[in-house]
Amino acid sequence: MEYLIIIIAVVAVLALAAGTLFFLRPSRRGPGRAAPPPAPPAPPGPGGTPTAEAPGATAVAPTLPPVTGPAVVAEAPLPLAGRMVRLRGRLARSQTAFGSVLLGLLSREGLDDQAWEEIEDTLLAADLGVGPSRQLVDELRTQVRVEGSRGPEAVRAMLRQDLIAAIGPDQDRALHVGRHGDRPAVVLVVGVNGTGKTTACGKLARALIGEGGAVLLGAADTFRAAAADQLQTWGDRVGARVVRSDREGADPASVAFEAVREGIDQRVDTVIVDTAGRLHTKAGLMDELGKIKRVIEKRATVDEVLLVLDATTGQNGLRQARVFAEAVDVTGIILTKLDGTAKGGIVVAVQRELGVPVKLAGLGEGPDDLAPFDPAAFVDAILSG
Ligand code: GDP
Repeated sequence: MEYLIIIIAVVAVLALAAGTLFFLRPSRRGPGRAAPPPAPPAPPGPGGTPTAEAPGATAVAPTLPPVTGPAVVAEAPLPLAGRMVRLRGRLARSQTAFGSVLLGLLSREGLDDQAWEEIEDTLLAADLGVGPSRQLVDELRTQVRVEGSRGPEAVRAMLRQDLIAAIGPDQDRALHVGRHGDRPAVVLVVGVNGTGKTTACGKLARALIGEGGAVLLGAADTFRAAAADQLQTWGDRVGARVVRSDREGADPASVAFEAVREGIDQRVDTVIVDTAGRLHTKAGLMDELGKIKRVIEKRATVDEVLLVLDATTGQNGLRQARVFAEAVDVTGIILTKLDGTAKGGIVVAVQRELGVPVKLAGLGEGPDDLAPFDPAAFVDAILSG
């Protein structure tokens, strides 16, 4: 009898376990555990690591198998024109603090001295710089005095107009790229390490190739093998040949010369040369960048010297950028990481400080997150919060 009870109990336990497993099995295939959707093609990123489209975006799960075959065919780059308007949301998210505080302050009834001081402090906190902040406040004050206090829409229009004027809507922001007669345009990209130089070279190459140009990249940052590797990754992905030295510490000027020579031979439209951003002595920097430029000019003309500045580094970054601007004649600024800062006033400060226009804006880590700088789109984003 006892045996019988034990046998019945064992059978019951086994049946229960089997039933549970059976019960669970269908749910494994059910919607809650559905196979992950195919991973989107990873945008080009340094060292081949997938980069997020925007801060906070979900990274591709590392356990997913790499996407291979036709699925990885890169999407065509977005046209350069109009990118800033398309990427306005990136700015609006990060600039809201600055824009909405200003609008709030200016909409107050009867603006007294303290309110104007707060307006100036807000502009200073947004990295606009002392001179431009004061000037903007003076202009706004005069306008309010002449035209009187008005509704929020009028205040927004007034602020919009003054901010655009401070940025300089008429500055020549054209990029001098593409063939000049029988030679390619040469673009030298300079700036402190970590500002986004190599990424900007890759993004620019992708955009120009997307517009039908042929681009060659020169890895003249010979001090870090990783920098050349990173440029190579971009080159491979966007379809640009990369001229590099296989010797770390090779003469950067000779790599630049070789890149330009090959660019001429291969009849490409634009040669983009990435340089080292070591901040050693100003004299050393001047020697190095000066030599690169002189050597290139034995074969071609340097059409653009683009200085890359990380917008999140504020006044400190600006001080470092000034050293580069003293070492070489800069023709334009690439202001990167504008998606990650509420201090958009740096646009005004950097232009004043260096006397050259911001030509391109970096608005994220994605391959198309580099836009020709458009003052009106920028200000509209700031004031859209
Ligand atoms: P380099 O040392 O100056 O060549 O800098 P890198 O090109 O290696 O860039 C440094 C880091 O900044 C990388 O992680 C880039 O993905 C990131 N980066 C570059 N531009 C932007 C941008 O516009 N926005 C954001 N959020 N990150 C950027």
